[in-house]
Amino acid sequence: MIPAKGYAAPQANIPLEPFKFERREVGPHDVQIEILYCGVCHSDIHQARDEWGGSIFPMVPGHEIVGTITKVGDQVTKFKVGETAGVGCFVDSCRHCSSCLAGLEQYCDVGMVATYNGRDKEGNPTYGGYSNQVVVDENYTLHISEKLPLAGVAPLLCAGITTYSPIMEWGMGKGHKVGVVGLGGLGHMAVKLAVSKGAEVTVLSTSPSKKADAERLGAHHFVVTRDADQMTATAGTLDFIINTISAQHEYNDYLPLLKLDGTMVLVGVPPAAPSVAAFNLIMKRRRLAGSLIGGIKETQEMLDYCAEHNIVSDVEVINIDYINEAYERMLKNDVRYRFVIDMASL
Ligand code: NAP
Ligand code: ZN
Ligand code: ZN
Repeated sequence: MIPAKGYAAPQANIPLEPFKFERREVGPHDVQIEILYCGVCHSDIHQARDEWGGSIFPMVPGHEIVGTITKVGDQVTKFKVGETAGVGCFVDSCRHCSSCLAGLEQYCDVGMVATYNGRDKEGNPTYGGYSNQVVVDENYTLHISEKLPLAGVAPLLCAGITTYSPIMEWGMGKGHKVGVVGLGGLGHMAVKLAVSKGAEVTVLSTSPSKKADAERLGAHHFVVTRDADQMTATAGTLDFIINTISAQHEYNDYLPLLKLDGTMVLVGVPPAAPSVAAFNLIMKRRRLAGSLIGGIKETQEMLDYCAEHNIVSDVEVINIDYINEAYERMLKNDVRYRFVIDMASL
């Protein structure tokens, strides 16, 4: 086994602390990656606090990983030692079901193996990217362009693909009015990506202080969702809404903003299920949909697209011993717009 170190939540709601553990030996199809940066996703907080249930502790969170390949197994063909590589939200899947065969491993019938807070095929818990290294099958590893700053690339592995995938699936772009609800890690990537596809983008936010940032990110309109007049003026105008809200809220507050046949895609996962009034869907044949990260093929496509279009996340780089404070700040919507851990600080 390979000795590794990182930061772990020992139990739900207990601050993260230094943690030593082991990675598996590099198998024939594995690559070993020295982690340089890992983004901090709100899903890390949900899971470290066991808000979705079934969390496995101790938990080393982190699924927005970029680093350098330090070793490759003898059957590896896609990566070389010294190359920059990325790892996202999952590290394995059944590889045989129709979803896996279609490159949609995130929807695997058997269940993807999550990068952390999951169990590998031997039943061992998986540990994520708040750590110095990781061993991953090459088929679940991404190529990273050297063109872009790596700290800003790390969040693409979750926040980037989670917003890119619905934009592509629903064909959001030129001629569409797209609302992005919640300007956090996912939200700011949704704005950049939807704008890059030619959509007219409205940010819908609880934080009036984010207006100037929204415009800088490329958004065309900004609506303060706690201002009833602004919400009324927006009613019936949007083709799509990408809902990234992490906390309890009402879907009924946002559905009326959609026009005829408009779709609200949920990517945010509030801890408890909100209600939906049937009339909010029926009256204008609206649709409520959801989307989960993206498959390996689409994640690579997104990384290549971002390299080509110079798209990275706006990041605040932190040392790993700042992680508990970073969580508290995210819970107060105080992140501009993704914390990324510099693993040299470990
Ligand atoms: P984040 O950076 O903390 O951003 C969430 C944003 O939601 C906040 O910045 C805030 O934006 C808004 N918000 C927070 N509390 C709110 C409330 N009570 N009412 C209305 N708006 C509120 O989080 P993130 O990392 O982007 O993740 C967002 C959600 O997506 C999380 O639930 C996460 O678990 C989930 N997620 C899902 C997937 C997937 O595959 N579907 C992947 C990754 C993450 P404003 O200040 O602009 O209001
Ligand atoms: Zn995530
Ligand atoms: Zn499968």
